[in-house]
Amino acid sequence: MNLIYIYLLCICAVILGIRFMSSPQTASLGAGVSGFAMFLAIVSDFVPVPQNALYLISAIILGALTGSLLGSKIKITSLPQMVALLNGLGGGAVVCIAIGDMHIFSFALVIGSIIGAITFSGSAVAFGKLQGFLPTFNFRLLNPMVLNSLFLCIIAFFTIMLHHQIPPVYFSALLVFSFFWGIFMVMPIGGADMPIIISILNALSGWTSVAVGFAQQNILLIAVGSIIGIGGIFLARIMIKATNTSLLKLLNRPATGTIAEHTHKQNAQTISAQDAAFIMKNADKIIIVPGFGMAAASAQHALKNMGNILRNKFSVDVKYAIHPVAGRMPGHMNVLLAEADVDYEEVFELDDINREFSETDIAYVIGANDITNPDAINNPQSVLYGMPILDVQKAKTVIFVKRSLSSGYSGVENPLFFAPNTFMLYGDAKKMTEEVDKFLEQ
Ligand code: NDP
Repeated sequence: MNLIYIYLLCICAVILGIRFMSSPQTASLGAGVSGFAMFLAIVSDFVPVPQNALYLISAIILGALTGSLLGSKIKITSLPQMVALLNGLGGGAVVCIAIGDMHIFSFALVIGSIIGAITFSGSAVAFGKLQGFLPTFNFRLLNPMVLNSLFLCIIAFFTIMLHHQIPPVYFSALLVFSFFWGIFMVMPIGGADMPIIISILNALSGWTSVAVGFAQQNILLIAVGSIIGIGGIFLARIMIKATNTSLLKLLNRPATGTIAEHTHKQNAQTISAQDAAFIMKNADKIIIVPGFGMAAASAQHALKNMGNILRNKFSVDVKYAIHPVAGRMPGHMNVLLAEADVDYEEVFELDDINREFSETDIAYVIGANDITNPDAINNPQSVLYGMPILDVQKAKTVIFVKRSLSSGYSGVENPLFFAPNTFMLYGDAKKMTEEVDKFLEQ
């Protein structure tokens, strides 16, 4: 059978899979179709049967077992870290291919290995930061602009030195410098910039496949890599717009610490679950704002239950508002609300709902913090300054469900906790929402 037909089928299945994944109703089908595409891609490696088929099969079995184990064991709260890790593995795989093919000089392979090494180390750092292993480091010795330019020049120098042949010493130096560039590039990124860098790493993992596809003249790698690469660029564009920044600003911004000083000189007003339920059932309109804490507590089912009771028993108009950088990965909140079967018609993006807060009785902010911080609008000194926020402060009453007055990912305090119309419902997001549900049901 001609390989090109398998490739074509595979490319169509990838596109169709992504298309299906764009809606929660068809997302599972999309995952199945994409899995089928992957299966076809693997099958294509055996047409014709290669000499090292046994090694290939062993590697495939090992990869499939590891993937299934990871996929089944991973907690939904650790999904962002896993996405970062998988991005990195794509880059690492390309570096391995490049090392194996080092004897055949190819400019595409050199470019692929540079991008691959950056993606690998950058994603490993992103994984560590999302997992909470790594803090945000401030490289005060060198301005980020100087550091990035230095790496660019060194890598360009070694690339030029590789003209027509690949001496192992230069090639190794190139990989080492690219590897360190990835680390130094991602390490200082913090706060609202993290989603952008994750999207960029995602795009890079696609482009590195394209480069290796050119080197190996593999149409499938070029086509699928381009889809991932372009998708990542679009995602990064959306995130850049959502946080109101630019790529240049992001890569050259002095680092911002993520360790907050929790002074909390002021007192925040508190509310009990019973009182929260009372004012909520007497409201006309409530907007629920989920954030990372909802994911951490897996509170989405309790939240969906709360929305249902309020709507069906008390005729309250309930909507969900999603900020583009809420949680720890693009689309994080959408995935969780879809998992809890929240009707997609009730879920609104920032631009579509923001003006509704001023006519809302209660904003129920569950495990969200940075995405509501008014300093992003009012305080030019804040690391969040410039990022559009969900205007929850405009609602008549704001209820924050969280365990303490601690900061969010950016590490900065949220002055909204101390506003006269804000009440803190302290506790785990799931536990407190279940308690509210209990009082609503009584
Ligand atoms: P934040 O990180 O700002 O705040 C989350 C809050 O959840 C914390 O203040 C914490 O407070 C609370 N929380 C944690 N666990 C629980 C729990 N079990 N129950 C109740 N509350 C809990 O989240 P946001 O979603 O508001 O903002 C996202 C942030 O993450 C932004 O800064 C964004 O830039 C960044 N980011 C986003 C990525 C993305 O792709 N979306 C990727 C990487 C970073 P407490 O400890 O008091 O409970």
